[in-house]
Amino acid sequence: MTRRPPTPTPAKPGRRARRPVDPALTWARSLLRRRPGLVEFVIERLGGLYGVPAPAQRLDPVSELVLTILSQNTADLNSERAFEALRAAYPSGGPVMTHRVVGPDGGEAPPEGWGGIGLAPGAPPDWSAVEDADIGALIDVIRIGGLANQKAPRIQTALRTIRERSGGYDLGFLVSLPPRDARDWLTAIPGIGRKTASIVLLFCFGMPLMPVDTHVERVSRRIGLAPPTASPDEQHEIYAHLLAADQFYAAHVLLIQHGRRTCDARRPACDRCPIAPRCRFFDPKAE
Ligand code: SF4
Repeated sequence: MTRRPPTPTPAKPGRRARRPVDPALTWARSLLRRRPGLVEFVIERLGGLYGVPAPAQRLDPVSELVLTILSQNTADLNSERAFEALRAAYPSGGPVMTHRVVGPDGGEAPPEGWGGIGLAPGAPPDWSAVEDADIGALIDVIRIGGLANQKAPRIQTALRTIRERSGGYDLGFLVSLPPRDARDWLTAIPGIGRKTASIVLLFCFGMPLMPVDTHVERVSRRIGLAPPTASPDEQHEIYAHLLAADQFYAAHVLLIQHGRRTCDARRPACDRCPIAPRCRFFDPKAE
């Protein structure tokens, strides 16, 4: 016998339909009520420890996207080597881009939140040549970056999708879209998730989106900025409700630095951590 689906109960006249609950918004509101000032405390203390990061565009958006693909599941140093190998194998002669930051003493440093030494000044690769490259040859070129068998087709798919959908290899038009629309445009590219899309949009256009990598994820959970079970995508949504537009860059860079330098995955240095008074990992009752 075929079961008939239940007939929906008609809404009572005069009553509005309830909006679905947004768990990220619920968490953010609850945190702001239970532990007021926590976000500002974390940014201020970490800014005091590592210096307040100043937003600065690092690369053109397509280079940032490809460098981020190359950095997936590998050390930033290796992804830099793979990107520079791309440049050498597929030279473009385009405008030189700067990745390293020049300090007040004239010395060069990698950009904030980046774990490598920074790319040497140089033109981006010829993206058309990279897209059309023989896949075996491309794998060989970027092998030094690790997981080349996965990353080479991912890079070619991304380049092909960008060219087919935008008419070239320029993602500058994304700046005119609302942040979530721009993110959705990028995540519609096969192999591009929210983290990669958010990195491109935050670093290239200063959009209020939070890339949640392994450091941000771990440190946020420990402090209690996010629930213990929150996935990176869920944290991404929580931060969208927790942070003001001008806090995203600093929060992202500082949480990464803290994860790399103090709040180690295995042995967090809580005894010298300025967040300890309000960290739920250090004190489960911390306010
Ligand atoms: S107190 Fe410990 S666990 Fe908490 S943020 Fe600092 S280093 Fe990490």
